Amino acid sequence: MSLDDITRRIRAAETAAGREPGSVTLIAVSKVQPPGRVRAVLDRGQRVFGENYVQEAQGKWPGWRAAYPGVELHMIGPLQGNKAKAAAALFDAIHTLDRPSLATRLARLADADGRQPALFVQVNTGAEPQKAGVLPADADAFVAACRADGLRLDGAMCIPPEGEDATPHFRLLRSIAQANGLPGLSMGMSADFETAIAHGATHVRVGSAIFGARTNAAA
Ligand SMILES: *Cc1c(COP(=O)(O)O)cnc(C)c1O
Repeated sequence: MSLDDITRRIRAAETAAGREPGSVTLIAVSKVQPPGRVRAVLDRGQRVFGENYVQEAQGKWPGWRAAYPGVELHMIGPLQGNKAKAAAALFDAIHTLDRPSLATRLARLADADGRQPALFVQVNTGAEPQKAGVLPADADAFVAACRADGLRLDGAMCIPPEGEDATPHFRLLRSIAQANGLPGLSMGMSADFETAIAHGATHVRVGSAIFGARTNAAA
């Protein structure tokens, strides 16, 4: 599958859902991909990328950013508190705001820097014990607490349980986002981005379908 194929499928899914063409942002997830594959996608014109690890992104992206104007970087992996400062400096958006301590840190950094990355609240829609994200029942209170800290919130994000139908999770995330006035919906990966678009995704995070299988187990 190529970048162009994925872009075509996104346009078709937008049209099928009665949504405006171009209303969905494709985040090309480049974590642990060989540099040559990422450069090929940059050369095709893709500018929005997702990474899971702060340190890996710090190593790769400053050079590519200088070479390819207009790059937008999204943090989609779990964010440790001690990496928050580096992440806020490097990324245009963070999709994994998932706990009060991280919200407080990001609010302090935003105060100090006078800028804040776009923020998506990660919701653990499947209430999986090993997965990050606020529980659906806690989402309203968490959003209110983030706003009380002075954060501007841009959306909600979920990673549905593996091997399950993602549809109920996409629906749940959408209802939580709507109830809380969060315009962005970061949901849908290689296997289900068209379903996510049918359920209102504004940002789809697609890795292996664009770049090929990741060669490293750290997915
Ligand atoms: C790796 C990853 C993706 C991309 O997964 P693919 O199945 O390769 O499309 C999307 N979202 C998150 C949070 C990820 O960690």
